[in-house]
Amino acid sequence: MKVPLLDLAAQYEAIREDLDAALAEVVASQRFILGPVVEACEKALARYVGRAHGVGVSSGTDALLVALMAEDIGPGDEVVTTPFSFFATAGAISRVGATPVFVDIDPTTFNIDPAQIEDRITARTRALLPVHLFGQMAEMAPIMEIARHRGLVVIEDAAQAIGARHDGQRAGAVGDYGCFSFYPTKNLGGYGDGGIVVTDDPERAQKLRALRVHGETNPYHHRFVGGNFRLDALQAAVIHAKLPHLDRWTDARIANAALYRSLLGDLAARQPDAPAASPAILTLPRTVTGRHVFNQFVVRAADRDRVRQRLTAAGIGTAVYYPLPLHLQECFAGLGYRPGDLPNAERAANEVLALPVFPELTTGQLRHVAQTLHSAV
Ligand SMILES: *Cc1c(COP(=O)(O)O)cnc(C)c1O
Repeated sequence: MKVPLLDLAAQYEAIREDLDAALAEVVASQRFILGPVVEACEKALARYVGRAHGVGVSSGTDALLVALMAEDIGPGDEVVTTPFSFFATAGAISRVGATPVFVDIDPTTFNIDPAQIEDRITARTRALLPVHLFGQMAEMAPIMEIARHRGLVVIEDAAQAIGARHDGQRAGAVGDYGCFSFYPTKNLGGYGDGGIVVTDDPERAQKLRALRVHGETNPYHHRFVGGNFRLDALQAAVIHAKLPHLDRWTDARIANAALYRSLLGDLAARQPDAPAASPAILTLPRTVTGRHVFNQFVVRAADRDRVRQRLTAAGIGTAVYYPLPLHLQECFAGLGYRPGDLPNAERAANEVLALPVFPELTTGQLRHVAQTLHSAV
């Protein structure tokens, strides 16, 4: 039995007629850049997240970039973020010329540890950039408290967490900006690159709209230096057509995670309480917030690489998100971090393993993964 890490074909088959019609409509209109289809998608997404404005952009990376640009964050500024994320989180900070300041993660959730943020704030800190990793929201209450107290902007990297909730709040609807990605492997994936920034502030929304078209405010008149950060109409059509299905797909991810938990619980139960303290067995992901949307189902194993080999041999797709924390990336060597500086992130990098959790998995496939894990550990 083969169990891929992700199989997008099954999802397409289920909604093929809608998707093909939405794409055909754009092609028939021959309006590919911005326009009514993009606007309809932006409105639907903003409503879904619970924000006043949505500005479609070319990718999740550019969503982060344009939010930082909208705040004029640049050289001399610092942005506090997590070292355990996809590269874009820190890359966007560097791209505007600012300095990423990395704060270690909470080993239970893999998200930035709010208790360690205050120590890293300086006179140069301008923004906090928490990531809702794997689909579980970061602890936004203390993060917002620090931001309010210190007058900092909050930009949420919600690329992996569309639909996630905690304390009655939705991912992307808590900070000043929420940034999402429509990369095909995200829970709401396009047929190419795409993203969106959401905000409640009309002035910020207006600036974002200008920045994505080279800072143009009137035709050929540029108030800012922006870029070409537009969401195209074909992607918007796909996203808009998929959105009504998102909550159902997310429920299926959550159900798959729950089945893993019941099938793997005994492996996890054999270890002491401290996460990953055991040399041999498995740590399952813990949901400490309201709705974890499981963009990834990530377990920890001290002998991860061996476990992964066993799964590969059994036809099971896995991935390591992420094998090298951001503070130890070659391109950030100049920032002066050393191995051991952020031990929770470094340990996670050595132990994490993502298992298949996409909505269309069958119970048989999930059982096969669990059985293989049992024999592997
Ligand atoms: C996917 C992702 C991004 C970047 O999104 P793209 O659309 O691929 O540019 C940023 N941050 C996180 C946490 C992501 O998972």
